[in-house]
Amino acid sequence: MGRAFVYVILGGGVAAGYAALEFARRGVPHGELCIISEETVAPYERPALSKGYLLPEAPARLPSFHTCVGANDERLTPKWYKENGIELVLGTRVKSADVRRKTLIIATGETISYKILIIATGFKT
Ligand SMILES: Cc1cc2nc3c(=O)[nH]c(=O)nc-3n(C[C@H](O)[C@H](O)[C@H](O)COP(=O)(O)OP(=O)(O)OC[C@H]3O[C@@H](n4cnc5c(N)ncnc54)[C@H](O)[C@@H]3O)c2cc1C
Repeated sequence: MGRAFVYVILGGGVAAGYAALEFARRGVPHGELCIISEETVAPYERPALSKGYLLPEAPARLPSFHTCVGANDERLTPKWYKENGIELVLGTRVKSADVRRKTLIIATGETISYKILIIATGFKT
């Protein structure tokens, strides 16, 4: 049996970062929330990619544009997640979800179970 969490956010983009901040503000107990993301870095402000990131002077680079700087709020670095007891499972694709059993299978074959799943995988055209 793999890891088990109360809350799992599937996807580590903008929505996941802002949701994590809200979870922390509401006092989610350490170890209850996990974010699983295919990306290898903590959630960042994707809109900066076509704006500040391109500026030659004072360029916005990680960790400067981790969420939630876009809302002039806290910068959620990997250290922030650690301090708030939120597990980041990065560089990890979720291959399938069994919503009846409340389990996810990740690329390594591990099963991760949850009580509440938040799907934040974004939108692809
Ligand atoms: C260059 C650029 C500029 C933009 N500029 C603006 C702007 O100025 N204003 C604006 O409002 N919006 C802008 N956007 C759009 C904005 O970034 C998106 O609306 C926002 O990122 C959506 O957030 P999200 O969390 O829903 O999805 P995303 O931020 O796309 O996050 C989805 C996450 O899910 C992960 N994921 C998906 N499938 C899996 C899987 N099977 N397993 C594990 N992880 C998975 C992805 O790796 C990613 O981490 C811009 C986007 C881009 C790319």
